[in-house]
Amino acid sequence: MTMLGVPLWTVVASAALYLAVAAAAMEFAWHRGLDALTEAGAHRLDLYAASLKSELGRYEILPAIAARQDSIKTLLAASPDARRALLPAVDGYLEAVNADAGSVAVDVIDLNGDVIAASNWNRPVSFVGTNVAYRPYFTDSLASGSGRFFGIGTNTGQPGLYFASAVRGGQKVLGATAVKISVDPLESAWRVPNEAAMVVDGNGVVVISTVPAWKFTALAPIAAHKQEQIQASRQYAGRKVDKLGYERLDDWRNGAWFARLPDWSHPGRERRYLVMSRSAPQAGDAIMVALDLSAARRQQQLAFAFVTGAFLIAGLYALYAVQRRRVIVERLKAQDALQRANDRLEATVLQRTAALQQEIDERVLTEQKLRDSQQELVHAGKLAVLGQMAAGLTHEINQPLVAIRTLCDNARTFFERGQSAQALANLERVGRLVENMAQLTAELKAFARKPEANTVPVSLADALAHARLMVDARIRDEQVRLDIDIAPDAIVAAEPGRLQQVIVNLLGNALDALAGREAPRIRIGASRTDDPARVTFFIADNGPGIDPHVLAHLFEPFVTTKPRGHGLGLGLAITSRIIEGFGARIAAVNLEGGGAQFTIEFVAANGGSIDSE
Ligand code: ADP
Repeated sequence: MTMLGVPLWTVVASAALYLAVAAAAMEFAWHRGLDALTEAGAHRLDLYAASLKSELGRYEILPAIAARQDSIKTLLAASPDARRALLPAVDGYLEAVNADAGSVAVDVIDLNGDVIAASNWNRPVSFVGTNVAYRPYFTDSLASGSGRFFGIGTNTGQPGLYFASAVRGGQKVLGATAVKISVDPLESAWRVPNEAAMVVDGNGVVVISTVPAWKFTALAPIAAHKQEQIQASRQYAGRKVDKLGYERLDDWRNGAWFARLPDWSHPGRERRYLVMSRSAPQAGDAIMVALDLSAARRQQQLAFAFVTGAFLIAGLYALYAVQRRRVIVERLKAQDALQRANDRLEATVLQRTAALQQEIDERVLTEQKLRDSQQELVHAGKLAVLGQMAAGLTHEINQPLVAIRTLCDNARTFFERGQSAQALANLERVGRLVENMAQLTAELKAFARKPEANTVPVSLADALAHARLMVDARIRDEQVRLDIDIAPDAIVAAEPGRLQQVIVNLLGNALDALAGREAPRIRIGASRTDDPARVTFFIADNGPGIDPHVLAHLFEPFVTTKPRGHGLGLGLAITSRIIEGFGARIAAVNLEGGGAQFTIEFVAANGGSIDSE
């Protein structure tokens, strides 16, 4: 199972690793943050302790110095009446000291606890006439020589720090001097962001605090007897001391601990702070700082963000690498496939080329064979023609030769017997046979000779008339009806002698075909056609018509249906060669009513003298 091409276990393992690293980093950052906070807190505590010591030290000595003043001793030792005269000088002194020291007030208290002189003697709210017998700093100073406490002024309602010192006249305690200082400057000097600083007195009550709302609240519940004491001393001017809402939680390192406290930036809410404390210079007091954890939390968030970012980048890079690897693998596969296809193609091409070559070779071979067999055929054809011709010639020549020999033998016998008349008759027959043979060789010569193309205008009527001289005897003997219709203007381009030969040939064939037929008839016609350049001539008979086997090859040499000795099959071959020589055309058809018709299309000869032999 995969996710974006990455195995699921890798994703799960990465997520687990991320969670573990993030948790560890956050823990580490948290600790680092808290350590930084405690370090800063420790510095601040040192600083506050030092400032408290120097600040308080400045004033602690002040009542003791005043107590040594003779004018004050005298004032306290004097009777109430006598004091009135001494007061202005003392008040003036106190006023000047207070102004120099920058304290809130400096005063002189008699043994009853009544304030008899004060730096603020002439102010609307003056300490003069106030009784402080219940204040611990007074009682402590009478008892031990000096006293000190944080409290709220009963007249002014202002919180402050009181120091007191006993005034002695010899061994006798005459009264006390006291100074009240404000802690406001300390509070404002200590106020820094994300931190609360406070001083807790021996009662566990916050007396100095950078958070105003926390002032005069108790960290822990105050015991009943202690409450009574507080009430009696009017330490907090009769104010009810509330609980701060402080709860100490688990400890941290370096003396710091976590505590729940009211949120100073969001009143009404509580928050967890890191708290550290240090003993204040004065016994029973403690300086505490509450440190905001948001800096440490920010560090924690930063660590989380860093780890998350790092993992995201690493994850994206891993994803990129996986995808890239996949792309490369795909590309290699594609290349491989292409290579294979190429190889296949190449193999196919080679195979096809070989097949083609083989086919070409076969064709060449076949062509060669064909040519060979063609030549063989031609050769065979020639041989056949030669054979046919030889057979014809042999027969044509042998027959008269045999006859001649017989006739000669008989003639000799006739001569020996003295029958010279018979012997002469034989010799005449020999002469005719020799003539026949001469005619045969003449025919062969005519066929072999290239026809001449020296044509002249010849009248077909004249040519027919001349030809008829050769065949009229047969026509008459065989009682053939002759119908002739030759137009007078049937004048053609021809060679007169040859034209007669053509007509004699055609008439001879017609008479051969008509031999032994009922009502033999020959029609001869010649006329001009629509084409003025042509003259048509025909010879038709009512014989059996041309043998269909012969028709297609009619004008080829040695084609004959006649018995051996009656025809060589050269007549029409010679005729067509002569006709071609005239620039004319010859064709043969079988007529519907029976019989054959030979048609010659002559070239018409217009003008010029008519050659008539
Ligand atoms: P031959 O007369 O020696 O046979 P030809 O070339 O003159 O040679 O004639 C070839 C053949 O044509 C003849 O053998 C014959 O079969 C056929 N033929 C020619 N003229 C006619 C015709 N008028 N009627 C029928 N057959 C013909």
